[in-house]
Amino acid sequence: MAAPSSLDIYAQTKLANLEATHLRRTLAETAREDGVWVTRNGRRLLSFSCNDYLNLTHHPAVKEAAIAAVQQYGVGAGASRLVTGNHPLFTQLEARLAALKETEAACVFGSGYLANTGIIPALIGRNDLVLVDKLAHACIWDGARLSGAPVVEFRHNDVVHVEQLLTNMRAKYRHVLIATDGVFSMDGDLAPLHDLAGLAERFDAWLMTDDAHGLGVVGGGRGSTFASGRKVEVALQMGTLSKALGGYGAYICGSQPVIDLIRTRARTLIYSTGLPPAIVAAAMAALDVIAGDPALAARPVQKAQAFTRQLNLPLAESPIVPVVIGDALKTMEASRMLEEEGFLVAPIRPPTVPAKTARLRIAFTAAHPDDEIRRLADVIQSRVLGR
Ligand SMILES: *Cc1c(COP(=O)(O)O)cnc(C)c1O
Repeated sequence: MAAPSSLDIYAQTKLANLEATHLRRTLAETAREDGVWVTRNGRRLLSFSCNDYLNLTHHPAVKEAAIAAVQQYGVGAGASRLVTGNHPLFTQLEARLAALKETEAACVFGSGYLANTGIIPALIGRNDLVLVDKLAHACIWDGARLSGAPVVEFRHNDVVHVEQLLTNMRAKYRHVLIATDGVFSMDGDLAPLHDLAGLAERFDAWLMTDDAHGLGVVGGGRGSTFASGRKVEVALQMGTLSKALGGYGAYICGSQPVIDLIRTRARTLIYSTGLPPAIVAAAMAALDVIAGDPALAARPVQKAQAFTRQLNLPLAESPIVPVVIGDALKTMEASRMLEEEGFLVAPIRPPTVPAKTARLRIAFTAAHPDDEIRRLADVIQSRVLGR
């Protein structure tokens, strides 16, 4: 056998270091049977680790829409949307999303990651500034860094800090983007959008929200800009089709000129193949399901709130509830213990969350049985929180 190359040795050393600090990640084969039950290592588990909040990945109407689109348009898009990959379903979905968000236009992207890494550099350059919430999703950070502009972190949900930064820095830059999750993916709390929108207006900054975990589950299903009951003016409303909508892909909603500029400038749209027609059709069917059943969108948050009430945790604002343990090894042990109890609750470790805040991230869906939620809370109470 050939001697290991320097590349292999590099990889092995890196892996050994991650192993020693309990931060190595591996893929566990997981077959999802329906919206909540999965099979892993030969066992059937109730999953609290899927973002399929409305269980639409397995909804009959959503599956049928995808199958019909495959029959009509084939499997792949065939090219970038800018070349020949812009099949007719895109226009319909974009009109639906713009109407839902009350904006002039929308543009669909291949994924949330592609959206944020394409949109931000399309609008922001070296002479501009980006302010990002400390806990914002990794792809907002990556998009901000790709823009070449200075990127400054603000304390999580701290509008006073944002105001200070704008007061001190606004005049030195041409344009300023404020970017935040609408619903925070690992903490489940909502951004203070009314206050941020007020600051954006006062300082002529551009507010961008990432509503990956808001669409379909907060604001009556319309997302975080509608969560307070009073619509917030947000210039750039990004979100994904991959969580509550049960499929894949992402979108940005905004004014017509902004969307037109993004269409002609976002490199992750121009140089990446369009979404498969089936996935676009599925997203529209998912929007139909949500529109036709107003009680459905409210259910995941109701389930999360039942759980936080039972454990005396802060009342859930979204379907996501963090149980912060701190230590990565203890978090993995807690996850393994829950797996023995029949629950899939994936451990979340740094760098996905800040150092020393490893946690169980519990995601509730419309179809989780109430008695199983009570049993999960009982087990966490006695064996994780130890009270
Ligand atoms: C999941 C997620 C993304 C990435 O979306 P994908 O479509 O999975 O690439 C972006 N932002 C947030 C807040 C997310 O939770």
